[in-house]
Amino acid sequence: MSTKTYQNLIGGEWVAPRSGKTFRNVNPADHRDVVGEFPASQAEDVALAVAAARKAFATWRLVPAPKRAEILYRTGQLLAERKEQYAQQMTREMGKVLAETRGDVQEAIDEAYYVAGEGRRLFGQTTPSELANKFAMSVRMPVGVIGMIAPWNFPMAIPSWKLFPALVAGNTCVIKPAEDTPLSTYNLVQTLMDAGLPPGVVNIVSGFGPEAGAPLVEHPDVRAISFTGSSAVGAMVAQRAAATFKPVSLEMGGKNAMIVMEDANLELALEGALWGAFGTTGQRCTATSRILLHRSIAAEFTEKLVARAAALKVGNGLHPGVEVGPQVNEQQIATSAEYVAIALAEGAKLLTGGKALTEGDYAHGTFFAPTIFGAVRPEMRIAREEVFGPVVALLEFDTLEEAFAIANSIEYGLSTSLYSRDVNRAFAAIRDLEAGITYINAPTIGAEVHLPFGGVKKTGNGHREGLGALDFYTTWKSVYVDFSDRLQRAQIDNAE
Ligand code: ADP
Repeated sequence: MSTKTYQNLIGGEWVAPRSGKTFRNVNPADHRDVVGEFPASQAEDVALAVAAARKAFATWRLVPAPKRAEILYRTGQLLAERKEQYAQQMTREMGKVLAETRGDVQEAIDEAYYVAGEGRRLFGQTTPSELANKFAMSVRMPVGVIGMIAPWNFPMAIPSWKLFPALVAGNTCVIKPAEDTPLSTYNLVQTLMDAGLPPGVVNIVSGFGPEAGAPLVEHPDVRAISFTGSSAVGAMVAQRAAATFKPVSLEMGGKNAMIVMEDANLELALEGALWGAFGTTGQRCTATSRILLHRSIAAEFTEKLVARAAALKVGNGLHPGVEVGPQVNEQQIATSAEYVAIALAEGAKLLTGGKALTEGDYAHGTFFAPTIFGAVRPEMRIAREEVFGPVVALLEFDTLEEAFAIANSIEYGLSTSLYSRDVNRAFAAIRDLEAGITYINAPTIGAEVHLPFGGVKKTGNGHREGLGALDFYTTWKSVYVDFSDRLQRAQIDNAE
């Protein structure tokens, strides 16, 4: 079977990159399976895409928001029809198991319906004026051309979180998908076009970060940047964007703690720990990567967790019965292996896993065994730094306050979780855990689209996706309408 070559989407046309260079998108479960060739775009391609988006902005911003929303609603319907096909393609390019890629497409469907409702809201405020016969209000305005840089772990959900609210607000977009998962962005944007999105409103430039992402960040006609990815790249993006005063929304790493108290439903906590730590092969920014265990239940919990983790079926996510797919690429495997070495050197105890799986059916993919470290202390790097793989650290504590202190002792603040049947402890956790998200009796993963998504500290820069995204994709305009037919001077004519 010949490999399909994809092109950039610029102004509604599929066009080859100027350089003619492409890169391969391969199946991480079997590198012999090539998903497609994609453009390795560069600054000149980005410039064409930005020009197309700028042109389209002139008309798209004037389409009534409820009409823009209808296209999103139709997109949700079409995605629902295509869910299985897109999920299969996503597992092929990214690796996570089919149940999860179906969930990824579902998240885009949910986002479409949620954001479509905003087309009839986009509320601003009305407020009394301090002057007589004067009306005051604020309205949301689109920002302009938005640059979007996406990661590979939620290849359709995350682009939908960025594109849909930006579109309903009247912006036009240039999106650079992650180099490991461009196809799912193509599928999403194709669906938008099939639903009636006009040419140029969304443009795709695929390629690598420094060649295609950086020029997007730097382009003077791009008015804002939405980035999801690593903290290292996020810091660079923010610094570069500052040169042209672009607002940047950053959603980055986590080192998410689950706290298990002695009064918890331990069976529930075990299930949650497995799902939180090894779902998506640990490659979620909200993955449960630290499990803090009350000392009285630690031995029993650890034994059971290790037995269950060791029994997880790792394999090709397209195959029935597989519970944990591959890691997305060699680099992620190398990072997991590096952190195993670091943890061992620090004195943590390897309880299961700890190595890449390379034999037999695993020979052509990038697989890593579900890995658990015990005897981890809060100051160890394995307890503080993001691995983004199927590697979890177990720590012990004696009191709830100590658990909170350990949970909060890191630089990240995305997601946290408490397992306890005590309502007082639950509300203390909600108040005291430093994170954008806290779950009670559920693992650290499982965000729903209509709540704010994002974190504190090194996880982000204060913006939120989900509920809150419109605050990034719109700019406020204050409007004063004076119907007095005379000059009224604020703070002067009405003083005294
Ligand atoms: P991860 O691969 O861990 O998800 P990265 O931060 O490396 O995180 O990548 C996230 C996104 O940022 C990808 O689309 C990647 O291509 C892009 N990217 C990487 N380096 C740069 C850069 N220098 N400028 C802009 N975007 C970049």
